[in-house]
Amino acid sequence: MITIKNYINGTYCEPSNNEWLEAIDPSTGVVYGRLPNSTDKDVEEAYKAANTAFASWSKTSVGQRSEILRKIADLIVSKLDALAAAESMDNGKPLSLAKEVDIPRAALNFRFFSQAITQFYSESHEQVSQKSINFTLRQPIGIVGCISPWNLPLYLFTWKIAPALAAGNCVVAKPSEVTPYTAFLLAEICTKAGLPKGVLNIVHGMGHTTGQAIVEHPNIKAISFTGGTKTGAHIAKTAAPLFKKLSLELGGKNPNIIFADCDYKKMLSTTVKSSFANQGQICLCGSRIFVEASIYEQFKNDFIEKVKQLKVGLPSEKNTDIGALVSKPHLDKVLSYIEQVKQEKATVLYGGERVSVENGKNGYFMQPTIIEVSSNDCVLNQEEIFGPVVTLMPFKGDTEALKLANNVKYGLSATVWTNNLKRSLYFSEQLQTGIVWINTWLQRDLRTPFGGAKSSGVGREGGFEVLRFFTEAKNVCINYE
Ligand code: NAD
Repeated sequence: MITIKNYINGTYCEPSNNEWLEAIDPSTGVVYGRLPNSTDKDVEEAYKAANTAFASWSKTSVGQRSEILRKIADLIVSKLDALAAAESMDNGKPLSLAKEVDIPRAALNFRFFSQAITQFYSESHEQVSQKSINFTLRQPIGIVGCISPWNLPLYLFTWKIAPALAAGNCVVAKPSEVTPYTAFLLAEICTKAGLPKGVLNIVHGMGHTTGQAIVEHPNIKAISFTGGTKTGAHIAKTAAPLFKKLSLELGGKNPNIIFADCDYKKMLSTTVKSSFANQGQICLCGSRIFVEASIYEQFKNDFIEKVKQLKVGLPSEKNTDIGALVSKPHLDKVLSYIEQVKQEKATVLYGGERVSVENGKNGYFMQPTIIEVSSNDCVLNQEEIFGPVVTLMPFKGDTEALKLANNVKYGLSATVWTNNLKRSLYFSEQLQTGIVWINTWLQRDLRTPFGGAKSSGVGREGGFEVLRFFTEAKNVCINYE
């Protein structure tokens, strides 16, 4: 049994109430450890440590902070195998995915912001006729809160923490209570890399108690949150009267629009990934697939054939494509959407069932699922399922495709498959999403703005956007007459 502890003021500590939550391996359903069920008392301790550390951390040079972040990145790389194994066990994702994507990206988050902060700049505006110059001082905000979800645990946890620290803030962070393990391991890495005590504090616990205490804390001045849209709305309501800076990265129901003039082979293999990578538990997965009518039947057959070849299996096995869903409640939620088919003139073309795999018969495994829908207005096309479930629907022409894509409350990302340049640009302009991929999916450049429109969020992460979020801009006007 593993005991996961809070990381406050540079040391591992137990929750003040001595209450613990169970940590479960989703591929077996077995409890592998325990984690703190922290309260507002623990959050207060974390805040105090951060506040004490801020006095000196905020005065360190960019070079010093950059060097520590780089060391953290190097140590993550050196512990790739252990971190990937921990992530895969905790989350249920294939070990190969954790090794190739999650952990390298966590290292890259630190490496990227160790460099980005050295290039971050502020503006100056001269008013020659009035003999004055304005410049923008970008100062760290102070103590900031970072709250992350379970689907890409270390990847998204570090995506927030790295820029917050780079900009000179001290952090009180909470990973998801469903996947706490790699955040726990990160603490030790930070200590080894020489991060001064109190600069980063990690408090484990439930959202409505520990997370809520972070959001409600009057002196935690900014909240960077990634998670569900409903939680985001609640956080916004709590934080608004306290006048906190807020960055909300929320849910998605992303369209994948396929035109007949696309590069068919590339589209087909990428669409399998954009549908089912990480068991479909990526906010950017293309869960609504719209296909031009002239190639609809061909696509449907080819897609089913490809998806049939995906292997659902133990995350630790080499040839596993689809691991376990993250938890029993989440599996039940996803399966409940399959029931919806009966009410919605929809047809399950493939999958739809929980499955049992060798050596993981109590694990939370499910078949990749393809559902044909007859309307975009159904629950299956309007609600985020966040599992290995996609819907298919044909369309005729650009106007209909665009209407279908935009007719949803979410606006995170969209993918368009076409070789028509004019159409690509038209869709890029007209799609109501924060991200548009043309002839690709999940191709990331960390310098670019990342975030959603409509109910998918407020604000942008990535590149200088997030460094702006994690700093307070102050205008200084000097008159030299
Ligand atoms: P969630 O909203 O249930 O939880 C996210 C985090 O918020 C967890 O750490 C949780 O403990 C915490 N939390 C819950 N209630 C809280 C409260 N009242 N105050 C403060 N914190 C609270 O989301 P989840 O189920 O962990 O993650 C899945 C969701 O995340 C999906 O909707 C997915 O689309 C979204 N997501 C979005 C992005 C993005 O970049 N837009 C990326 C990944 C996941």
